[in-house]
Amino acid sequence: RMNTLGDVPRYHAEARPDAVAFSFEGRETTFAQLDRHTNQVANALLAAGLSTGDRIAYVGKNSDHYFELLLGAAKAGVVTTPIGWRLAAPEIAYIVGDSEAKLVFVGRELIGHVDAVAAELTHRPVVIAMEAEGAGDYQTFEGWRDAASDVDPHKPIQISDIAIQLYTSGTTGRPKGAMLTHHNLLGMRREAAKNPLEWNQWGPSDVSLVAMPVAHIGGTGWGLVGLINGAKGVVAREFDPTKVLDFIEKDRISKMFMVPAALQIVVRLPRAREVDYSRLTHILYGAAPIPLDLLRECMEVFGCGFVQQYGMTETTGTVVYLPPEDHDPAGNKRMRAAGLPMPGVELKIIDEAGKSLPPNTVGEVAVRSSANMAGYWKLDEATAKTMDADGWLRTGDAGYLDEDGYLFIHDRVKDMIISGGENIYPAEVESAVYGHPHVAEVAVIGVPDDKWGEAVKAVVAPKPGVTPDADDIIAFARTRIAHFKAPKSVDFIPALPRNASGKILRRELRAPYWEGRE
Ligand code: ATP
Ligand code: MG
Repeated sequence: RMNTLGDVPRYHAEARPDAVAFSFEGRETTFAQLDRHTNQVANALLAAGLSTGDRIAYVGKNSDHYFELLLGAAKAGVVTTPIGWRLAAPEIAYIVGDSEAKLVFVGRELIGHVDAVAAELTHRPVVIAMEAEGAGDYQTFEGWRDAASDVDPHKPIQISDIAIQLYTSGTTGRPKGAMLTHHNLLGMRREAAKNPLEWNQWGPSDVSLVAMPVAHIGGTGWGLVGLINGAKGVVAREFDPTKVLDFIEKDRISKMFMVPAALQIVVRLPRAREVDYSRLTHILYGAAPIPLDLLRECMEVFGCGFVQQYGMTETTGTVVYLPPEDHDPAGNKRMRAAGLPMPGVELKIIDEAGKSLPPNTVGEVAVRSSANMAGYWKLDEATAKTMDADGWLRTGDAGYLDEDGYLFIHDRVKDMIISGGENIYPAEVESAVYGHPHVAEVAVIGVPDDKWGEAVKAVVAPKPGVTPDADDIIAFARTRIAHFKAPKSVDFIPALPRNASGKILRRELRAPYWEGRE
């Protein structure tokens, strides 16, 4: 009964109209209200002359109204593109321009950027302010929405229609617009229902925290998972570590998704050890490799079930999960795995020519599932390179499958360091260095080396108040991993460059060493 995104509010409005769908800064929206609001959004878009496949953009921090916009647009066949609010004006302009968005909905923090963005565009989208605060002369979202009829337009939508155009995080280059269909967003849920996973069961009392940015699949995708399951979604305007603890205590959060970099900040708060986590059943984490020591620390402090998720924008998020049972604090081999394919997902490891590799052999991870994107918007060549005619999608990640079908992710193929003929994956080295008592954060890169081709370098952000010693860190790493993988040199910087999805920008760290050589 939930075939398209617009069916989600319709379904729950009928099943449980008075249950709360979203809670945001004191504003609660029931499923019945959500259904009406999304009808209004759809009608307003249709009245503005938009039709199936037209795009709108959202630039702002997280908000319940973003989800109203997304679901309402879906009822009109209109595609929503959320854009990261941390991006600079030219980066925002690139995505608004590339997506050809006809309307742009702007959060209060970004209103000041509108002119700078508009100056770079060749088309003139209509601007609507998400909030009254700072809206100036722009129409506000609520005013725009409430002027429209709340009767369901019942526009026919195909499951193969695009619902979201989500740009990749831009870790390896310019962000690409992954086109995600209604089927991508909902089909996998039906697969999962056939073979339900214990940690993925949701009940009426579940409360989910949506604290990761909605411009990434970890924000929008996670928000939709809770909504589809009829849970209450507590939306955090932005990631704020102390507020995460407040939400857990006051809103009785039961499930939350967070990237490792965010978990690290929360778990290190002194108050983190005083909070009552009895209602919190699961923490889901992923989007970047997690150091084992950090995972153990989180398991000890939060004491709930942990589930790793591996996926990407192009696969509509999670395609692989590591269940709570495989989180053994004693540190068995499985705890280093990304996990098992979600129901309905197929995995294989391929070589450069695309040939399948046997178990325990590292190659590129390829995925086939009903959640694989329709393609990259306006990038036919990149699409053809990423997806083949049989539906296999190349992830760009290096990894292997063990004999039990567990996927182990090493890193991106592009980030692999070749030193003295050995392949070295930064994540493994980072995990080893991270355990050093003076290390707050670490990124590992390959730097040019006459003898080895590339040499392993660790870039370390020290913990406050300590002056770590490079030789000591190298010696420490050598006790944990093979000598050839251990760093040959260590540089210190105050903090690592990361993008909004918490990913280390290795290409930024590498650049000064490779200048003029690549
Ligand atoms: P771009 O494609 O624009 O360079 P990106 O790949 O960082 O950016 P996303 O789609 O947000 O954009 O991220 C997907 C990537 O995140 C995966 O390809 C993988 O490298 C990494 N990733 C996701 N989950 C995990 C995980 N559990 N462990 C390790 N890496 C992960
Ligand atoms: Mg990518």
